[in-house]
Amino acid sequence: MRNQVRAVVIGGGVVGASVLYHLTKAGWKDVMLIERAELTAGSTWHAAGGMHTVNGDPNVAKLQQYTINLYKEIEEISGQSCGMHITGGLMLAGTPERVDWLKMTIARGRYLGMDLQELSVAEAKKLYPMLEESCFLGAVYDPIEGHVDPYGVTHAYAKSAQIGGAEIVRNNRVLDTQQRADGTWDVVTEQGTVHAEHVVNAGGLWAREVGRMVGLELPILAMEHQYLITEDLPEFVDQKEQFHVIDFEGEIYMRQERGGMLIGTYERAGVPWSTKNTPWDFGQNLLPNDLERIAPSLEVAFQHFPRLGEMGIRRVVNGPFTFSPDGNPLVGPVRGLRNYWVACGVMAGFSQGGGVGLTLANWMTEGDPGADVWAMDVARYGGWANRPYTNVKVRENYSRRFRIRFPNEELPAARPLRTTPVYERLQAENAVFGDYCGLEHALWFAPKGEPAVEEFTWRRSNAHANVAAECANTRDAVGLLEISNYGKFEVTGPGAAEWLGTVMANKVPAIGRITLSPMLNERGRLIGDFTMCRTAENHFFVVGTYAAEEFYLRWFEQHMGAFAGRVLVRPCAMEYTGLSVAGPNSRELLQSLTDADLSTPAFPFMSFAKMDVGLVPALVGRVSFTGELGYEMWVTSDYQRALYDALMAAGKPLGIRPIGGRALNSMRLEKSFGSWAREFRPIYGAFEAGLDRFVDLKRGGFIGAAAAAAEKASGGERKLITLDVAATNADAIGDEPIWHDGKVIGWVTSGGFGHRTGKSIALGYVNKDVAEATTGFEVEIIGERLAATRLATPAFDPQGLRMRG
Ligand SMILES: Cc1cc2nc3c(=O)[nH]c(=O)nc-3n(C[C@H](O)[C@H](O)[C@H](O)COP(=O)(O)OP(=O)(O)OC[C@H]3O[C@@H](n4cnc5c(N)ncnc54)[C@H](O)[C@@H]3O)c2cc1C
Repeated sequence: MRNQVRAVVIGGGVVGASVLYHLTKAGWKDVMLIERAELTAGSTWHAAGGMHTVNGDPNVAKLQQYTINLYKEIEEISGQSCGMHITGGLMLAGTPERVDWLKMTIARGRYLGMDLQELSVAEAKKLYPMLEESCFLGAVYDPIEGHVDPYGVTHAYAKSAQIGGAEIVRNNRVLDTQQRADGTWDVVTEQGTVHAEHVVNAGGLWAREVGRMVGLELPILAMEHQYLITEDLPEFVDQKEQFHVIDFEGEIYMRQERGGMLIGTYERAGVPWSTKNTPWDFGQNLLPNDLERIAPSLEVAFQHFPRLGEMGIRRVVNGPFTFSPDGNPLVGPVRGLRNYWVACGVMAGFSQGGGVGLTLANWMTEGDPGADVWAMDVARYGGWANRPYTNVKVRENYSRRFRIRFPNEELPAARPLRTTPVYERLQAENAVFGDYCGLEHALWFAPKGEPAVEEFTWRRSNAHANVAAECANTRDAVGLLEISNYGKFEVTGPGAAEWLGTVMANKVPAIGRITLSPMLNERGRLIGDFTMCRTAENHFFVVGTYAAEEFYLRWFEQHMGAFAGRVLVRPCAMEYTGLSVAGPNSRELLQSLTDADLSTPAFPFMSFAKMDVGLVPALVGRVSFTGELGYEMWVTSDYQRALYDALMAAGKPLGIRPIGGRALNSMRLEKSFGSWAREFRPIYGAFEAGLDRFVDLKRGGFIGAAAAAAEKASGGERKLITLDVAATNADAIGDEPIWHDGKVIGWVTSGGFGHRTGKSIALGYVNKDVAEATTGFEVEIIGERLAATRLATPAFDPQGLRMRG
């Protein structure tokens, strides 16, 4: 074993082996994988090896496609078979809602280059005679589905990596990882210490233990998972290998395993395994079977596929594997730990392992993952995702694996967890709450006396009319919105302004002013979207997306450089809660509570000041995400209730009513205002996103300036446009394909109904050559291609007179 390498990968499951291979492929030859036992000795060896391309996040779906296409490559390099069986797959729907879901999945597949085909149940029956037609309503065929041999895949990665120069050390547990003062790592193992520049935690079932070596508590939990293999079916002899099948309502997946059937289920009463510590002596073991637990799913399976009920069971496998709270992997660099990387929580190693390896290797060798990997970035979780939270959410996620999540559906587990001081006030107003990073916030308000409950649907829900009333009230009088669920940072120190000028693309505001600014990476792609407010020479209050707080802090720390010691970035999201008022009466309302002059000459659009509102000391900004005249107020949380009460009391004669996030979304769509994680993501450039006026190329000198200038010159590849869709009862929600002249030329990033304009609006990216067209567009919503017209200006108040007036 060498004692000095560039990178050590801890863990020889399918994920660690893939990371190792991709590092060598990227040119890092001096790398080592250390495995406690034999390769595959964690959850990998007993996996069913199934793989598929469909995923709820299109960016993860692309990485799944990459993974499946990779197997040929590693077979060729290594000479090791991956045991690939591309059988094709059938997804079966037993409810109308699931049929809609299948239609949407097919639609999304169009711009992802997937060849999904809708089938009638009779057609599905022809392909898969075992199914009982009366139990299903529709089906989809996916040609790229199948299974691999877990051992073969892991060894093919490993051998390919060795051919590329990597060293693999087996039967050697990593006991500790210690960071030296210079940021490099001592990896202490049973066989001695290895000094490395980089460490990768790919510890799978033991990733938590490996994380704890550096004081990191990763939000992952292993769940027991069972599949069974039936005795051989005589009718399989000499037949083409059977398809993979997912029966959503039965909550089972199936495939042929030699002459029998492999049937797995994500049962509702899932059981976590080793909730706190994973024993180090857990070898290539299986857990005791518990057929009782999966009996309800099997009963449904036997109704849906009666032939299965006649088969004896040859073998049952019960093994653990890990999940994050949302079921997506945890990948990337860990904030505060230089050159410490994770690749864990991968619950579908044979669909995702290749993509995870590629992403991490890109990130380590190039400084950038090379794709939009927000959905799997370890930084999407903050301190709120502690072990008990993870336990509750992982169990919820596991039990819902085959259930639909509607776009307006808020999941109930671990709620309410975090609440702001006005929570009870909003509850008394009959708020329907949503959960964002564990924090409750009002989505909309049900009429008094009616249950504050929303029906889950792909179409317009019972919220529609109420949200309409909230928007109308904001347009005609004044609406009050809680805005606590933003990330907030105090940036202070003698270097604050200069440093902000290097990380933000727009100019730094003058004292008392606000500027909106994208944050770009070196490739000129959008990695953030901020409101910078300046209270003093060396004091800024910066507002961004709360879910990305860790992501931002990681970026800020990595790009502090020579400013270290002269700039302090302090996250203060929960220290400051917020309320905003918007609408034509908002100034009169606020003016009645403060002696600061709020007239436009004294406090114009994009002003920011400390002022007392009622008895409450507040930071007040004149900004608007609704398109109406509006003010945002930030107060320390101890004052939020007093501020709310003062605004509601003073607002009564002015027609105030509380509004929720749904109304805000409707109004920002009417203004064509983009939103982080929707219109603004690392796959888009600032000019593609139409943020031209917020990128100060004249000043330059900020990260990504050169790439942004090049993008401006070339015009980018695509453009964000606004469409007015001829929708009647279902609006776009995001990820629908956009057609033009019979071809798919883009996708929707967000959509909804604009209540002030009566238009169904979709924002989305299209190829730039059609971005100037007005007609000929269609948006495919639940299987229907609906005509759409491009709006050259925002649907509501295109001149922005209302918010500036
Ligand atoms: C019953 C079952 C069925 C499944 N079916 C499928 C399927 O059909 N399709 C699919 O894609 N996925 C499936 N999975 C999930 C799949 O197994 C996982 O996604 C995959 O194995 C995760 O791989 P990993 O490398 O992250 O973790 P692991 O396989 O757990 O690997 C981690 C490795 O790290 C090593 N290690 C840990 N700590 C240390 C240390 N301190 N020092 C040295 N080495 C260490 C361990 O020994 C282990 O070998 C299934 C899982 C189960 C249990």
